[in-house]
Amino acid sequence: MPYTKTEVDIHEDYTVEAVDPAWLAQGVKSPKHLMLDPDNCILCRACEDVCPWNCIYMMSPGIVTGAAEHAVGDEVDNATAVFVVDDNACTRCSVCVDRCPTDTLYYARLPEGSKGGQRTMAEVPASQAEGV
Ligand code: SF4
Ligand code: SF4
Repeated sequence: MPYTKTEVDIHEDYTVEAVDPAWLAQGVKSPKHLMLDPDNCILCRACEDVCPWNCIYMMSPGIVTGAAEHAVGDEVDNATAVFVVDDNACTRCSVCVDRCPTDTLYYARLPEGSKGGQRTMAEVPASQAEGV
């Protein structure tokens, strides 16, 4: 079919305005955050590997036992791995959620009072390391 050019109205009454960065940050990011159900994790590291922004890390508990944040150190005693996500960098693109073979990753709202930023998502129990 031949291409037919259509008339386009050129508007001259549009005023370009700066977008409020705070509104933009809210508008493009889901209010939900990346979460992890540790009991299903098979420690394949696919999520860490696939993240385009390098903001999800699987760490050995030994790395964080000396953390300045005592609550983090106390939680990892019986863990095989600790997931940390840089929530400021995470764009909620879902690539890691889609890639996870065990539906371990999901989105949810953080508990009341919790902040984003860099945060521990979950500790994978030692029993999950069996057979890895
Ligand atoms: S949602 Fe996207 S940006 Fe966030 S951790 Fe997963 S892959 Fe990375
Ligand atoms: S969360 Fe999913 S993709 Fe990431 S290591 Fe665990 S099983 Fe693999």
